[in-house]
Amino acid sequence: MSEMRAASRAPARGSLHTVDVPGLRHDHDKGTLVNNTYRHLFGPVPSRRLGRSLGVDLTPFKTCSFDCIFCQLGRTTDKTILQREYVPVDEVIAELDAWLAAGNTADYLTLSGSGEPTLNSEFGRVIRHLHERTTIPLALLTNGTLLGDPHVQMAAAQANVVKVSLSAWDDTSLQHVNRPHRSIKFDTLYDGIRKFRKIFTGELWIEVFLVWGTNSSVSDVLKIADRVQALNPTRVQLNTAVRPSCEEYAYAVPLHRMDDVAKLFNPAAEIMAEYSSNTSASIQATEADLVGILERRPCSLDQLCRVTGLHPNEASKYLGKLTHTGQVQEHHKSGEVYFSGVHSLRTPST
Ligand code: SF4
Repeated sequence: MSEMRAASRAPARGSLHTVDVPGLRHDHDKGTLVNNTYRHLFGPVPSRRLGRSLGVDLTPFKTCSFDCIFCQLGRTTDKTILQREYVPVDEVIAELDAWLAAGNTADYLTLSGSGEPTLNSEFGRVIRHLHERTTIPLALLTNGTLLGDPHVQMAAAQANVVKVSLSAWDDTSLQHVNRPHRSIKFDTLYDGIRKFRKIFTGELWIEVFLVWGTNSSVSDVLKIADRVQALNPTRVQLNTAVRPSCEEYAYAVPLHRMDDVAKLFNPAAEIMAEYSSNTSASIQATEADLVGILERRPCSLDQLCRVTGLHPNEASKYLGKLTHTGQVQEHHKSGEVYFSGVHSLRTPST
């Protein structure tokens, strides 16, 4: 084989040809990977915290160091603290490059998805790569269990926003609310978050998830608020189980009660309202797109309309057909109706 022929068959340095990404094809005219199907990306989905957020999923369903009673994904099937490359990060990066090359945009790129993203040993490489490729801010949603590890701290500190869940104040409450991996103790977990706070110059958001009758009394919330305040967060966000949770007994805290306990935090906690979203970018929604979104995250009609740009009449027609054909299910929760794909992977609250 001549050198010229050999060179023409070899993948260019950094070329997307070097990675075989199932579900993507190479468009020879555009010189990019194109397809609507991504294995590791989802959305952009409506997020109450982050507007239109493109989710980047770095773990298989459902790999987490916690098994929270309020998790919208369902129960944890692989409860672990073992860090490894659970999904090939080269594939994730190739998909992100293709998504960006197609001119897509979002308010945030968010490491979240089917479990705890910091369990993927290469998550820092994804953050680094994205900062080189785009100015879209990057958020990491984590339960904080690995933040005691200096390598995890350094990798996480590259994000613009790190949102850590903290809904307990000692080992007993941690067991009741988060059902952690057996090796995780509250003091060690909390100390890890505190150490991370010292080196992190971005925005630290703390999300407190309250479950009615489990960690929602004034004395419970005061104990959580004490620990949250010592972390000097940029924002504190109060959440509750308004969407279907993995345990039926994980009841939502009534809104008037949330209003009362929000004042116990310093800074005062924001109650997670409906997501907000700018409408600068429109998304061409198809039935397949809608099913893809709803398989990742249950949405109300209003949320689905905001993220897709569809008129409610149009969206309800799609939903009517999709529920009729069994591709989408309807759930009733706290007076709201949510829709999810029948193979739903539901986005977690971290
Ligand atoms: S809510 Fe987040 S931290 Fe808790 S089990 Fe689900 S994915 Fe894990």
